[in-house]
Amino acid sequence: STLQEWRSFNKTRVYMSDLESALHYSLRVELSGHISISGNDLTALKKYINVLSKHFPGRPSVKSALKTVDSWLQQQKGTEIKYSDFRDVLDNTVQTSDAVLPEGVQWVGCQGSQSHYRGYPCAFWTLFHVLTVQAKEMGIPDPQEVLQAMRGYVSSFFGCRPCATHFESMAQESMDHVTSLSAAVLWLWSRHNRVNNRLAGDLSEDPHFPKIQWPSPELCPSCHGLKKTGEHHWDQEEVLTFLRNYFSSAHILMDYLQ
Ligand code: FAD
Repeated sequence: STLQEWRSFNKTRVYMSDLESALHYSLRVELSGHISISGNDLTALKKYINVLSKHFPGRPSVKSALKTVDSWLQQQKGTEIKYSDFRDVLDNTVQTSDAVLPEGVQWVGCQGSQSHYRGYPCAFWTLFHVLTVQAKEMGIPDPQEVLQAMRGYVSSFFGCRPCATHFESMAQESMDHVTSLSAAVLWLWSRHNRVNNRLAGDLSEDPHFPKIQWPSPELCPSCHGLKKTGEHHWDQEEVLTFLRNYFSSAHILMDYLQ
């Protein structure tokens, strides 16, 4: 891949450019590997797009593109769709309006020190956290809606198949126990830390972005505590407060957008 100019960024913030790039990659690169989509995969795609259309805290034009694709998908009553038809709707070659999802990827907070590091998997996690926090802020009725939609997408389409297998086994183990929107935010945070723990020191780790139990004490001092025994413990109330701020729509930086 081509050498990209380094974009300076704040390591403690979420960037809309990463979120839009994740949408582009997921909908135009990852999905395009499927000529037709049917059965469980089609159900998973419908739920994923539906959650994005309701909760993606994006620019009006991007939200409008997601809503267009969502209503088209909900109208598809057959057992199968062609990716090319999906793509026509996404790219707005069917309707004409200001609805548009920018083409191409521009990683900012998810830049890697080399091009094979970070990028899409980083931005997918970020998108996933943003959506759980957004669901909490909006107080939606079903506490598992976002988790189940993302689970379905990962299981059907996420290109890293070992990742999908690992994630599915965590989901099977405990996702059903999530009974509140706060618990959904914390469930995702704690499973992401499990993945970080497993991958720390792995070959896939970008040496400039070591896998840690996140957030660090520097980023969130009040999240960390000690038990009487001297063992580390997470203050989950504080973690929740931190996540609701860190991933909130009002906090997302709009730098470098196309
Ligand atoms: P990432 O882990 O991608 O995190 C992105 C950003 O999220 C971080 O920079 C940080 O700001 C923030 N963050 C970090 N931890 C947390 C947390 N606990 N809660 C909230 N925010 C956090 N790779 C494998 O090699 N094997 C796997 O099995 C595997 N499974 C995966 C499963 C899923 C569902 C996904 C989306 C990715 C998976 N990956 C796996 C990829 C891997 O987790 C990383 O995404 C990738 O290595 C890039 O790491 P990163 O340094 O950019 O940070």
